[in-house]
Amino acid sequence: MREITPRTTDLDPAGALPRLVDPFQRAITYLRVSVTDRCDFRCVYCMSQDMTFLPKADLLTLEELDRLCSAFVARGVRKLRLTGGEPLVRRDVMSLVRSLSRHLDSGALEELTLTTNGSQLARFAAELAACGVRRINVSLDTLRPDLFRQITRWGDLAKVLEGIAAARNAGIRIKINAVALKGVNEHELADMAAWAHGEGMDITFIEVMPLGEIETHRADQFLSLDEVRERLAERFTLQPLAERTGGPARYDRVAETGGRIGFITPLSHNFCESCNRVRVTCTGTLYMCLGQEDAADLRRPLRQSEGDAALHAAIDAAIARKPRGHDFVIERGRAAPAVGRHMSVTGG
Ligand code: SAM
Ligand code: SF4
Repeated sequence: MREITPRTTDLDPAGALPRLVDPFQRAITYLRVSVTDRCDFRCVYCMSQDMTFLPKADLLTLEELDRLCSAFVARGVRKLRLTGGEPLVRRDVMSLVRSLSRHLDSGALEELTLTTNGSQLARFAAELAACGVRRINVSLDTLRPDLFRQITRWGDLAKVLEGIAAARNAGIRIKINAVALKGVNEHELADMAAWAHGEGMDITFIEVMPLGEIETHRADQFLSLDEVRERLAERFTLQPLAERTGGPARYDRVAETGGRIGFITPLSHNFCESCNRVRVTCTGTLYMCLGQEDAADLRRPLRQSEGDAALHAAIDAAIARKPRGHDFVIERGRAAPAVGRHMSVTGG
């Protein structure tokens, strides 16, 4: 079994280094890390059929990812989400999870979690739970096996459901994420909410974002969640909740099921004013906003020296440029996506 040995330089006691605060006085406490741009699915809204993936040599090693994440933890990041691409297809990814779990043990990190398509979850559920992963997000856009195969281009729904069951048996709480797709799953969303709540899981619906070139025009996929909400309200009593996670989701309690539905509406409403997060790619590029091109290279300072001084300086310079928010639009006449990189690069 592969093990990562933490370097002594990343063991600074939490609190010794200044917290990360952006120019709009938002504390940066949440880091999402795309550990690979590769995936075993090719969801039609996320990737094109023929994706060119990064050469493996460009990727940060798992040790470097550990060092990078630990630098952010030392600066006050309390929540770490591994994503991708599909995080569970990165070779030896569990050695990273195991190693990062030391920050849970020390109390520096509140939550270590991941977003996954669930295809490999049956294999890894028990070990994730043993590493202190308490809840994860599983992306699932339909419960119909044929449609699932169409959306993911070759995914097997049964495997994902098996993965969800394994995670729940291991004591991990699951939230389902479903992208609302016009003319594809739009009439199934209420049934999906009823299913998720019946299983004791919350569900969040997401609006398609214009990230990366795909075969279909985004306007043909985009479904406003205002419309979805109206339709859900015909079947359920939706009670808006005040709770916020610093992210773009707003939640409702469904009176009939007791479960929660989240709505992530980057297009129809944005909630950037409370943004508490940044994202880093598997090549060590830091994006201060999912919907903007500006980025900072952290790989070079990471590799430049054994110590983390250059890395922290690069992180500080980047956070000082975090923009107020994104300006996504989906317009019929617009040929290019708002942001050229795919969600699988930046990490959803
Ligand atoms: N492979 C993992 C998964 O599917 O959960 C993690 C990475 S995936 C990029 C993270 C999330 O982004 C998924 O919930 C996916 O549905 C969502 N996503 C991908 N492309 C998107 C897009 N263009 N607009 C909105 N959501 C997108
Ligand atoms: Fe893969 Fe997730 Fe993108 Fe689907 S949404 S292609 S599972 S990275």
